[in-house]
Amino acid sequence: QAKVAGKNCYRFYSRAMDQAVERRVHLEHELRGAWDRGELSLVYQPVFRLADGKMVGAEALLRWKHPEQGLIAPSVFIDVAEQSGLIETLGPQVLRAACEDAVSWRDTRVGADPMFVSVNVSPRQLRSGDLPNVVAACLRETGLPAQQLHLELTETAVIGDEVHASSLLSRLRASGVKVWLDDFGTGFSGLSHLRRVPVDGVKIDRSFIADVLRDPDDLALTTAIIAMAHSLGIIVVAEGVEKEGQYAVLRERGCDLAQGYWLGHPVNAQEFLVLLG
Ligand code: C2E
Ligand code: MG
Ligand code: MG
Ligand code: MG
Repeated sequence: QAKVAGKNCYRFYSRAMDQAVERRVHLEHELRGAWDRGELSLVYQPVFRLADGKMVGAEALLRWKHPEQGLIAPSVFIDVAEQSGLIETLGPQVLRAACEDAVSWRDTRVGADPMFVSVNVSPRQLRSGDLPNVVAACLRETGLPAQQLHLELTETAVIGDEVHASSLLSRLRASGVKVWLDDFGTGFSGLSHLRRVPVDGVKIDRSFIADVLRDPDDLALTTAIIAMAHSLGIIVVAEGVEKEGQYAVLRERGCDLAQGYWLGHPVNAQEFLVLLG
């Protein structure tokens, strides 16, 4: 009896797995031509400075509008792009598009402070080693000043290869580009990385911000991250600000920048131009 159940169970499991693998292979195939078919686009989420409430930049976030499946979350397809190596062509395309858009913001805001654009870079893009050249070419060709480009890396991108990562990041930072550590606090040894990996800022993961008003531990950790970062000369960005109270407490604790649904949802490039006024 048990054997039969076990067998059925195994077969069911295996079929589910086959389906998952199949779906992945299929997605990868479709993702390959998605950029050229115009299915991929960037949305921009505004980033605000807490000291004066001014919008100072935006994070570029990729969206895939699949013809049959509709909107597919980057948490699904970025992983596919990363595993398959597709990210090595997609990454530079994203970077290029974001820089072009940021140049157009500058043109609409004559006299106003220039806005930065912040672009997510996946571990594989960093590991390829080509990133400083790709970034340099992109800035040269689009005319975006290096100071207006920020790159967001996750801790997993630097883990295990701190020496290589540090030298790449140093080259990027020497060119004037700012580097932020994304999803900060979720990794195993965030603090020790800051000693060895040169970055300009950390983005506190939104899981900390989510409970900052209810959970004293999350508030303590957030406050500690801010103090520690500042003592190292690093700026702090909070992500996932969904309530006014979170904004207020972050501001009170000296957090530098913030983004989140309470401040502004990600919007497409045209809508973002409207936000700029
Ligand atoms: P991330 O870089 O940490 O981006 C922040 C995510 O939080 C975004 O999800 C954003 O839409 C979402 N978010 C913003 N404000 C709030 C809020 O107040 N509440 C909540 N619950 N969520 C908020 P999204 O766009 O789905 O992106 C997910 C992840 O996919 C990103 O996390 C980033 O790691 C990755 N990603 C997105 N675009 C790119 C890209 O162009 N290249 C690479 N390599 N990764 C990307
Ligand atoms: Mg990010
Ligand atoms: Mg993040
Ligand atoms: Mg996050």
